[in-house]
Amino acid sequence: MNFTLEPMPYAQDALEPHISARTISYHYNKHHQGYLTKLDAALPKGDERREQSLEEIIKSSEGGIFNCAAQVWNHTFYWQSLDPTGKTSASKELATQIDADFGNVDELKSQLSSIAAGQFGSGWGWLVWNDAASKLQVISTTDAENPMTEGLIPLLTLDVWEHAYYLDYQNDRGAYLGNLVDQLLNWEFASRNFAKRNG
Ligand code: MN
Repeated sequence: MNFTLEPMPYAQDALEPHISARTISYHYNKHHQGYLTKLDAALPKGDERREQSLEEIIKSSEGGIFNCAAQVWNHTFYWQSLDPTGKTSASKELATQIDADFGNVDELKSQLSSIAAGQFGSGWGWLVWNDAASKLQVISTTDAENPMTEGLIPLLTLDVWEHAYYLDYQNDRGAYLGNLVDQLLNWEFASRNFAKRNG
C-alpha cells in the first residue's frame, strides 16, 4: 500500500482534560491503526487499489474495504479537526460564509453538536461545503460513511463512535461534543479545507 498511518498532529495527552491520553492511546493505536491493518489484510497482493490513494479507494469501493479505507481517512481528518490550543480562528472568507449560512458561529456550533449527538448508533458529525447548493451544511453519517461519496467537501469532523468518548464520558455523548465544539475545533484546518474547495 502506498499509505501509512499518519502521525498524530499533537501529543496524546494534548487534548486533556477534554479527551484523556488513555482514550487517545486506544483510539489511535488500536482503532485507527486497526482499520489500516485490516485494510492491508483485505487487499490481495496485486490488487490495483494497493496503489491508489485512500480517497480513490473510498470513492470506488464497497463493503469491508470501503469501511476500513473510510475509517482510516476519517480518523486522520478527526485528529486534524481538533486543536489543543483552542485558539484557532476561521479565515475571513470562511467566517463570512458561516454568517451567511448559519447567522453566526455559535449557531453553527449548536447545530453541529445537536446533529452529531442525534446520530443513531456509531458515526460521524461533519461540517461540509455543499458545492452544488453553494452553502455550508452540518450533517451526520452512519458508521464509516464519508460525505465525499455524496460529492460534499468535508471541512471538520467529530467522531461519535462510543470508543471516542466512553472512557471519559461514559454514555454522555452530549458532554463530549459540547467540550469539543466549544474548546477544540480547529478553525484553521476548516479554513484551509474551505479554501481548497474548488480544487
Ligand atoms: Mn473512532
